[in-house]
Amino acid sequence: MPTRVTVPTFLLTSALAWSQPVPRSLDVHWNEGAPDCSATPQNPLQVHQYEPQTFILRQNPCASFEANFIYLLIGSDKALLIDTGAVADPKAMPLAKTILELLPDKDGKKLPLLVAHTHRHSDHRAGDPQFASLPSVQVVPFDLEGVRAFFGFTNWPNGIAHVDIGSRIVDVIPTPGHNETHVAFYDERTGILFSGDFLLPGRLLIEDSGAYRESALRVIDFLKTRPLTHILGGHIELDAAGRAYRFGSHYHPNEHRLELAKEDLTVLPAAFESFNGFYAHYPNYILTNPIRNLIVLAVIAVAVLIFVVWGVRRLLRRRRG
Ligand SMILES: [Zn+2]
Ligand SMILES: [Zn+2]
Repeated sequence: MPTRVTVPTFLLTSALAWSQPVPRSLDVHWNEGAPDCSATPQNPLQVHQYEPQTFILRQNPCASFEANFIYLLIGSDKALLIDTGAVADPKAMPLAKTILELLPDKDGKKLPLLVAHTHRHSDHRAGDPQFASLPSVQVVPFDLEGVRAFFGFTNWPNGIAHVDIGSRIVDVIPTPGHNETHVAFYDERTGILFSGDFLLPGRLLIEDSGAYRESALRVIDFLKTRPLTHILGGHIELDAAGRAYRFGSHYHPNEHRLELAKEDLTVLPAAFESFNGFYAHYPNYILTNPIRNLIVLAVIAVAVLIFVVWGVRRLLRRRRG
């Protein structure tokens, strides 16, 4: 009997291994920064090997409050770097140096590198100049026309582009809404969706709510026929209880987990349908429209000012009387 049980189990496991990407290690404590960064010097960049050909890098919250996550995917012909983070100065943030050290050799040279961005916001591309003069490095433009042309999108934001880095295909999915240039990357090898600022445990800052919802539907549709292990975004801005850190904080004690799951994505279209246009708190993210909130704040400030001036004038008139 034991043999008859063992054989089918083994067959089942190997069959699963063929069709499903195997989740690897996310058992890591990310740099949390410090309440007083000057008193406690921090390593600017944390490197975590998720699996032999996938690295997750985290910029220390002390180096930049944005504390970006950057991803390095190694193929057999080249490597793909997703985002270059929030810090330009190579002395403060040795990003290019670290990436070059992680790149394997091929034919006696470093593997060629393609540097792409989830979107054009400066905290995702400030490190670009560190790569500009390096040999065998190509940096994808960050403006919308450049992104469209490089990946060959002819019907933006529809269609999927494919980047072949050698025995590893990475799909590029347009995901405007947070920013018009936003794309997400789906890695077939690991089954990870690299979602940038489109979906992360933090504030989903909305520029165009209609486009954002359409993007969520597009990604859900894309993933219908593909296995998904994790959704990994560009930042962590919530603690484990789901509370947001103060904006600009260099200290992230007890952070929320980096990885989000399929359910976080599937409820997103409905979240946009019921969105009040200003602010909505979900367990793993916050929907917010910063421009609208700013306008409301400005209107309230002006109203308060008018009220104060009116009150003072009334008071002065009464005293004179
Ligand atoms: Zn952004
Ligand atoms: Zn960002």
